[in-house]
Amino acid sequence: MSPKKQEHVRLFIPGPVEVRPEILDAQSEWMVGHRSPEFAALYASVQGKLKQTFYTQNPVYIYTSSGSGVWESASRCTVRDGKKILHLTCGAFSERWAEVSRLNGKQVDLIAVEWGQAIKPEQLAEALQHDEYDAVACAMNETSTGVRNPVEAYAEILADYPDTLYLVDAVSIYAGAKVDVDAWGIDVCLTSTQKAFALPPGMAFGATSPAVLERAKEIPNRGYYFDVLTLQKYHERDNTPATPPVALMYAADRQLDDMLAEGLDARFARHEKMAEMTRVWVQQAEFEMFSEDGYHSPTVSNVANTREIDISALNAFLRERGMVVSNGYGKLKGKAFRIAHMGDTQPEHLEALFAAMDEFLAKEG
Ligand SMILES: *Cc1c(COP(=O)(O)O)cnc(C)c1O
Repeated sequence: MSPKKQEHVRLFIPGPVEVRPEILDAQSEWMVGHRSPEFAALYASVQGKLKQTFYTQNPVYIYTSSGSGVWESASRCTVRDGKKILHLTCGAFSERWAEVSRLNGKQVDLIAVEWGQAIKPEQLAEALQHDEYDAVACAMNETSTGVRNPVEAYAEILADYPDTLYLVDAVSIYAGAKVDVDAWGIDVCLTSTQKAFALPPGMAFGATSPAVLERAKEIPNRGYYFDVLTLQKYHERDNTPATPPVALMYAADRQLDDMLAEGLDARFARHEKMAEMTRVWVQQAEFEMFSEDGYHSPTVSNVANTREIDISALNAFLRERGMVVSNGYGKLKGKAFRIAHMGDTQPEHLEALFAAMDEFLAKEG
């Protein structure tokens, strides 16, 4: 590994996550022009593996933005004037996506539940009986609360509404659990590089169905940078409309190879195992899960701070040992803390974390 200026602190925060040295180094390949045949080959290589890992035949557009850019793209390109989008919100990220739709001038309805709860399929079924929607948008894994929503059950309901496009934010769960895009009929499925993909931040992906392209043709103001029709045009030549992050593409190519070599099922099982280990620790340490039972995320655990520890002091203690966890998000600051167990984090890394946290609790608690 090339030398680094900073001390290594292993990140157990839900993004950016720990990136392996091999992946960091993959970015130091010589640059190529993005209109060159070398770049087209890189694009095609990444594309094939993205389709495999998203379980889709649809194109997976590559965005030079974080995941939020794909929110903007999906909201702008699927909701017509005079029509509405239904956002299912259960925490900070799903709420922010609803705000992004509003800020793009879209009419938004909400199904909103308390933070920590999952949105139940019956709630969606009921809303769809009362109103018509151009799109339904949800977060499969609400990173701020540690809830994994039942998106496969939403899919069954939405199968009866072919004109309602299904938009799923899989930012913090893609590559950590199966996101079965085609089987679930997802029209836009998005992720970004710095969560369970375990790459540096700066790039995002949107698996996009033909129905989205058809819908987009009926919407005049789609902008340019996030327009799916423009992305599709360049995609057909294994290219992107604007300059892509070539170095990150090298890293993605390498990481996708490594993911497939591990085996997707094995990768998902490792995430399940780490989530289970975390829940066992939470119980042993006499905390409680913040997320609703039955809906705990496989990639990030949100722990209710029932022992009222000083989370900043915990992190100061952990930092001295080369680790860091995440304080509660937004209004949960101090009330909960999050342990990410995603990407290339291994069970033994978590064991080291739990040992250090136990040491802190023995001292402070
Ligand atoms: C991190 C996150 C986002 C935002 O993604 P960026 O890549 O930071 O723009 C969106 N949704 C969820 C569920 C996230 O965890």
